[in-house]
Amino acid sequence: MANNTELKLFKTKKSIRDFVTSQKQAGKVVGFVPTMGALHQGHISLIQKSLEETNITVVSIFVNPTQFGPNEDLHKYPKTLENDLEICSKNGVSAVFNPDVAEMYSTPENKMFMVVPPDFYNKKLCGLGRPGHFDGVATVVTKLFNIIPAQKAYFGQKDAQQLFILKKMAEDFFIPIEIITCPTKREPDGLACSSRNINLDKKSREIAPILYQTLNFIKSAYKDGKSDFSQLSKQLIEEIISKQQEISLEYFLAYDYSTFEKVDTLKNNTLIAIAAKINNVRLIDNIILE
Ligand code: AMP
Repeated sequence: MANNTELKLFKTKKSIRDFVTSQKQAGKVVGFVPTMGALHQGHISLIQKSLEETNITVVSIFVNPTQFGPNEDLHKYPKTLENDLEICSKNGVSAVFNPDVAEMYSTPENKMFMVVPPDFYNKKLCGLGRPGHFDGVATVVTKLFNIIPAQKAYFGQKDAQQLFILKKMAEDFFIPIEIITCPTKREPDGLACSSRNINLDKKSREIAPILYQTLNFIKSAYKDGKSDFSQLSKQLIEEIISKQQEISLEYFLAYDYSTFEKVDTLKNNTLIAIAAKINNVRLIDNIILE
C-alpha cells in the first residue's frame, strides 16, 4: 500500500544522527535499511518489514567505493537518486541518508582504519572472487551503525554471506543493534531482484532465472532424500549451466549456515549458494534447506 510521508533527506553525519537521536529521545523505535540505491522490490520488502516493526524507518543510499575491487563495476553501478527518493516517500520512509564519498571517507587511504572480517568467513564464496569486498562492507556498515544509532537494522537473505558476517561482527563488537533477516524477493520468474538486473540485456535476462532453477533442483532432490551435493551439483553444472554459453559460473557450493563450514552432505540449514556472470553481469543467489 502506498504510504506518503514527509521524507527528510540528510547529507551529513551530524544531521542524520541528530534526527535519529531526537526520534529515540521521543520514545520512537528506529529501523535502519542500508542500501546502495537503485531501489527495487527487494529493498522495498526490507523497508516494509521495518515499517511493520518500528516507528521510524531510515534508509541510507550510498554506493560504497571500498567494497568494489579495481576491476569491478563501481563506475557502472546504477544511480537513480530521484527515483529512489520517490520510492522511499511512497513507501513510508521517514528519512534518507545520502552522503557523498568525502562525508564517509575523509581519511587518506593509507591512514584509513578498516574493519576486516576473519578469513574463516571472508575467504570463501564471494570473498574469494571479490578480495577485500567484505572488508569494505564491514567497514561501511560499522560507520553507518555509528552514524545512525537505530535499534534495528534490516538486511536481505539474498546476500547470505554479507548477512552472516555482519551478524557476527555486530555480536563481536557489542554493537547495540538488532540485525533482522529479510527473505529474498524475486521477480515472477524466480530471478532474485537486484540493482544489477537492469544491466542484463534481453537474452541474459531470459537466461538469468536458471540460477534459481538450479537451486530449486537441489531443494527438490533434498526433499526426495538425496544428500550428495558434489554429485548433484556436478550433474546440474553438466546438464544445465554449462549448456548456456552466456553463463560463466563463479561458484556453486554448499555451506552449513550455522557454522559457515563447507559441506558435501546436505542437511537442514545448509546454504546452497551460486554466483555467475551472465554476459558480464555478476549475479548471486542462494537458498537455505529446511
Ligand atoms: P544493496 O543495495 O544491493 O547493497 O542491498 C541493500 C540491502 O538490500 C541488502 O541488505 C541486500 O541484501 C538487500 N537486498 C538486495 N536484493 C534483495 C532481494 N532481492 N531480496 C531481499 N533483500 C535484498
